[in-house]
Amino acid sequence: MHQDGYSKIIFSFFGPPGSGKGTVAEMCVQGLGFKVLSTGNLFRKHISLGTDFGKLIKDYIDIGKLVPDEFVGNIVLDWLKDAASSGMPIILDGYPRTSGQAEHFFKTFKDFAPDYEFRVIYFIISDEEVIKRLTNRFVCQNKNCQAVYPPFAPAVKKGICDLCGEKIVRRKDDSVEVVKDRLRQYPRYKDDLLSYYKKTDLLVESFDVEGKSIENVFKSFKEDYLNGDSINGIDKE
Ligand SMILES: [Zn+2]
Repeated sequence: MHQDGYSKIIFSFFGPPGSGKGTVAEMCVQGLGFKVLSTGNLFRKHISLGTDFGKLIKDYIDIGKLVPDEFVGNIVLDWLKDAASSGMPIILDGYPRTSGQAEHFFKTFKDFAPDYEFRVIYFIISDEEVIKRLTNRFVCQNKNCQAVYPPFAPAVKKGICDLCGEKIVRRKDDSVEVVKDRLRQYPRYKDDLLSYYKKTDLLVESFDVEGKSIENVFKSFKEDYLNGDSINGIDKE
């Protein structure tokens, strides 16, 4: 147990785009002092700093290919080692995303975060609600940053990017068709990852966020998933 009463847990937040997982993760940083990793933000940071890894992933992104699981895994584990030294709970926002990433992570994470337990929180939300949320997003104006925020993100209220401090503006290209297209790709990732967890006997904890305000989602997360031993909505499908 950490001095603040939190257990050493690595949460993997997993769910479709627009489910609010990134915002809840960010609220856990701001309000509870957790450590959060968004691979998207980490990639952008490496690209804008021009690190060796940044150059490598830019090459993959430029040709429209997925960055290999092992490259992503190594950069995540490097980050994890530092985060785990704090003793605070850790959230991996959208990682692992594929069974390959999950396999790489499980093989090695204990070397980097020895006392930590791993839990998967699976955000469940309908396509209709995702479409409603994602056609109304905001983006950082800084060309080297371009962080994206849902309409309810705290950063949008402030009008300032959490990562670089530049202004945030409404995004133009999130048409319903673009969002639907992104949603069409999601079941493939989802099924692949869920079947991997099933195979390895890892419990996946379902979290129904449909129709809930982001404040309520944050509250439920704290009450039902963070504190105590009782876990709601366990789902081993
Ligand atoms: Zn920014």
